[in-house]
Amino acid sequence: MLVRLSRTKYAAWCDACLRGSEVVATRAPLVARFLAIESLRGEGWLHAPPPGLPKHAHEEAERSWSGATYCIDCASSERMRAADPRRRAYDTAR
Ligand SMILES: [Zn+2]
Repeated sequence: MLVRLSRTKYAAWCDACLRGSEVVATRAPLVARFLAIESLRGEGWLHAPPPGLPKHAHEEAERSWSGATYCIDCASSERMRAADPRRRAYDTAR
């Protein structure tokens, strides 16, 4: 998950291995979250919104990174897991 530390500081927490990211600090409170997400995405962090959200909620989750986040190491296995049809069937059945 993305964690707000202050008005200008954010960090991500890996939902798989529970490792924290570097703290992303900016000088612009209004766009701090956006910049933090851009920076984390650039480092290879992955955001995975909960499956099955309505379109607008999905878009909002992507904008705010309110869903699970995965570190660089876990992102690749999470991408594979998300691509696994059995896993997808499980998610939609839940
Ligand atoms: Zn991880």
